[in-house]
Amino acid sequence: MTQKKETIKTGWNLDNSYARLPKTFFSSLNLNPVRSPKLIIFNSPLAESLGLNDEALQSEDSIEVFAGNKIPEGGFPLAQAYGGHQFGHFNMLGDGRALLLGEQITPKGERFDIQLKGSGRTPYSRGGDGRAALGPMLREYIISEAMHALGIPTTRSLAVVTTGESIIRETELSGAVLTRVASSHLRVGTFQYAAGWGTVEDLRALADYTIKRHYPEIEADENCYLLLLKKLIERQAELIAKWQIVGFIHGVMNTDNMTISGETIDYGPCAFMDTYDPKTVFSSIDAQGRYAYGNQPYIGGWNLARFAETLIPLLHENGEKGLELAQEAISSFGELYQSNWITGMRAKLGIFNEESEDEALIEDLLKMMEKDHADYTNTFIALTFDKHENIDLFGTEEFKEWHERWQARLGRQQQSKDASQQLMRNSNPALIPRNHRVEEALSAAVKQGDYGVMEKLLGALSNPYAHTPEQADYCTPPPPSARPYRTFCGT
Ligand code: AMP
Ligand code: MG
Repeated sequence: MTQKKETIKTGWNLDNSYARLPKTFFSSLNLNPVRSPKLIIFNSPLAESLGLNDEALQSEDSIEVFAGNKIPEGGFPLAQAYGGHQFGHFNMLGDGRALLLGEQITPKGERFDIQLKGSGRTPYSRGGDGRAALGPMLREYIISEAMHALGIPTTRSLAVVTTGESIIRETELSGAVLTRVASSHLRVGTFQYAAGWGTVEDLRALADYTIKRHYPEIEADENCYLLLLKKLIERQAELIAKWQIVGFIHGVMNTDNMTISGETIDYGPCAFMDTYDPKTVFSSIDAQGRYAYGNQPYIGGWNLARFAETLIPLLHENGEKGLELAQEAISSFGELYQSNWITGMRAKLGIFNEESEDEALIEDLLKMMEKDHADYTNTFIALTFDKHENIDLFGTEEFKEWHERWQARLGRQQQSKDASQQLMRNSNPALIPRNHRVEEALSAAVKQGDYGVMEKLLGALSNPYAHTPEQADYCTPPPPSARPYRTFCGT
């Protein structure tokens, strides 16, 4: 009876469809309780959209849930199995420090995974401790929520709690657990796992499950597995184009970090580019630049080819024919990506219609920006508001010529100058989570227990297209002392 009352109060409405897949895809988990959980940050608007009661979820009882000390009614804790190409090398992986509580069914009938990250060891932990540190969990919270506000499909962050326990890295750090919300945690690596370790029936069960969950419109089609491949190619072409357009560098585009939903996942060494340079890499372990900004579309295609390979047995009873179908589908990725990218870049320049010279116009601007070490975000903002004083590049003859070409191009479309500027305002964010501002917020939180800096930053990032005067403070590029910026994974 009390249980029932509790459910109504908190709003948990969990299903466990993933747990109905063949057993090979997961391991059920026992809890690894932590000493004294404390709620650090909670996402009220997200909770409400999930049908969860904001107030009840910040109670002591619910904080136990976010720490992995207690399972909410209807939950079925499990760790998912998956494999993945890490920097090109295939490994058996799985949730080594994550626990899926269940799938929240929202009042609108949508389904979202509720996953704890940093909740302790699992059968897939290998040598790891299954834990996470406060800094990286807050970092994922800030960047994933900023991505959402930028209009980029992403997993979301519902809460971060500290555990009251220390974890050992290079130094002793505060342990923390992040509650992640995702359309699902199905990955290219989940399919690689099925193809490598499961039977064809397992693979088919996974593909059917995925179609039902993410692409129900193709369920009845006799070529549904080929369509699944095509759908993912489309979604990833859209997603990666959005990353490029905003200057987001994922940093660790291993196949286990590519979702089948088309959401950005696994905010480890990711960061936003300040100065425009396709070779930009922030991750300390990416010495070769495999996951550099300019290489992301190529890697996207490479990862999708790994996905296509796993589907071959389902595409055709004749393996060679299956391979042919897979290759044909994969060959469409480059063009799809390019068309998404051009559309987005046209909008950044206030262009509504299409002309064949547009690509050259965009590329010529980017080349000048690269040569002049221009700030990516601020250059487009300066073009939007026609404010040329802070951008050195704008003083060059080359730029002046380009500017004339651009103005002439705008003159050749029907839309007014005002409409064009409005399009630019809506397509060029004033704010990105600048690395030095994220570091400043994390340092205040982790070293001084001051969460105010982070809350203010989150507030500013929540509306990146507002272009209000209060945001100006967050638009400044990092000082030379904050460069080069380095990020780390597996923290
Ligand atoms: P990531 O770099 O976050 O994509 O993680 C790669 C793999 O390492 C995944 O299988 C993670 O679950 C696992 N992993 C990362 N950190 C830990 C940890 N502290 N303990 C156990 N497994 C971990
Ligand atoms: Mg990962």
